[in-house]
Amino acid sequence: MLKGAALAAVPYALLPDPPADALPPPVDHPSAEWVAASTANHTPADRPTTHPIDFVVIHVTQTSYRTALSVFQNPKKKVSAHYLVRSVNGNIAQCVRERDIAWHAGNWDYNTRSVGIEHEGWVDQPGYFTDALYMASARLTSAICARYDIPKDRAHIIGHYEVPESDHTDPGLHWDWTRYMRLVNSVRHEGASPRPPA
Ligand SMILES: [Zn+2]
Repeated sequence: MLKGAALAAVPYALLPDPPADALPPPVDHPSAEWVAASTANHTPADRPTTHPIDFVVIHVTQTSYRTALSVFQNPKKKVSAHYLVRSVNGNIAQCVRERDIAWHAGNWDYNTRSVGIEHEGWVDQPGYFTDALYMASARLTSAICARYDIPKDRAHIIGHYEVPESDHTDPGLHWDWTRYMRLVNSVRHEGASPRPPA
């Protein structure tokens, strides 16, 4: 806060240029916006070196996008996900780095071995599962699978309800798995297209 205030008082022209090798935003998915979860809500790791990444776990928030972000930022909540997809436009927030272990599955082994994606909506309100949400999420899941060599099938892209010992029902009966898996297997994820000749 203090640092920000001090910087704001410096005339723009006096600020040094950012170094040419300035770090990009700390996201694993290039189009995601970084909205960090509290460090009290996830576990630092160095995946996939420390733990293999075998699954993508699909969730539905049962609350709004903004509330979900504030929950992840609240150190008392002890919950997080790597990503949150917004219903209205498919905007993606990344809240935990993929190398770290987010607390989303309700099963420690599955937490260590998965990337968790929350989707804004309610299991009994299919209107929240928009075209934009499905498409953005499918691109994200496709890219994650490519990064960690995860088969793009229902044995590895699972609902929270399929995590052993989970008592959750999300993403629920209205989540269109057939459509979602078709999208995951057909989208060209970011970085996947061949480079045009120079
Ligand atoms: Zn869930």
